[in-house]
Amino acid sequence: SSTPLKVAVTGAAGQIGYSLLFRLASGALLGADRPIELRLLEITPALKALEGVVMELDDCAFPTLAGVEIGDDANTIFDGVNLALLVGARPRSKGMERGDLLSANGAIFTAQGKALNEVAADDVRIGVTGNPANTNALIAMTNAPDIPKERFSALTRLDHNRAISQLAAKTGAAVTDIKKMTIWGNHSATQYPDVFHAEVGGRNAAEVVGDQGWIENDFIPTVAKRGAAIIEARGSSSAASAASATIDAARDWLLGSASDDWVSMAVASDGSYGVPEGLISSFPVTTKDGSWEIVQGLDIDDFSRSKIDASVAELAEERDAVTELGLI
Ligand code: NDP
Repeated sequence: SSTPLKVAVTGAAGQIGYSLLFRLASGALLGADRPIELRLLEITPALKALEGVVMELDDCAFPTLAGVEIGDDANTIFDGVNLALLVGARPRSKGMERGDLLSANGAIFTAQGKALNEVAADDVRIGVTGNPANTNALIAMTNAPDIPKERFSALTRLDHNRAISQLAAKTGAAVTDIKKMTIWGNHSATQYPDVFHAEVGGRNAAEVVGDQGWIENDFIPTVAKRGAAIIEARGSSSAASAASATIDAARDWLLGSASDDWVSMAVASDGSYGVPEGLISSFPVTTKDGSWEIVQGLDIDDFSRSKIDASVAELAEERDAVTELGLI
């Protein structure tokens, strides 16, 4: 169809936004034939910087960019949006306690959930990138009672992509030969990147690697701490890769995952794999036409079980903390 897809991006003047907007506008989401309209939300002090970014978008003369609207009012910006990419979040600053961070973000995602509930299109899908992404998604979901729960997800696709890249480097395979990677749990240092169900060139990845020590002591911590390693090297946090993963996740959600593969998405649990119902936790999912299904029937051994349980326990703690704060 040539009706523009209305895509909202929050925190649009931030680092991730600076990479994300240009790729969205150039057709990375739905291809060169489907125009998109950008709806960009920022906090008031960042609107001037956002105007500068929009000048650059104009200057790219992207054929697929049908329009751009900016503002600081969620009810205006989210009006009629089909896809909302919630990137803006309050970063942890010096001396800020965990509770302060959760309440600052709680306020943002409560308001945005309510606004989406009021004004988004009936087919809206919401992807949360801003951290703590899983719990922010839970807050937005809880505050948008008229939007089906399965329309919310939090980003673990960057972790998924990082895991594929590390496994490809270790085995000498191309990234395209790696299938069925899974990130379980929270988008945090407790996440569990699972190679035991992954494949390298059609063979079981753990068997191809044949080195439990590498998996436990190298692969898992490297993937889980990659964000910190990038800050250390680059002097600022990963932005282009986070933007790229945000697009990968949204594209696969809308257009579908490959038939011989799955992707990782943090979605509201239905109790699968012992993850308490309602927690927004990362699972292996297949996607098709804007919906997702958790891959069922995977054998979870004791090692994987303990890793999944630890990350899910952290999610439950975050949920309890925001419940105590009255945010959900
Ligand atoms: P970034 O654009 O670098 O990051 C935005 C968010 O994405 C942060 O919460 C960050 O988490 C998160 N994130 C998720 N995955 C990753 C990843 N792999 N690497 C890096 N970040 C990741 O932040 P900026 O500070 O440059 O920009 C944020 C913008 O959001 C600002 O312009 C601010 O004004 C805006 N904002 C807008 C709001 C709104 O629209 N209502 C509300 C709050 C802020 P982490 O902090 O853990 O790095």
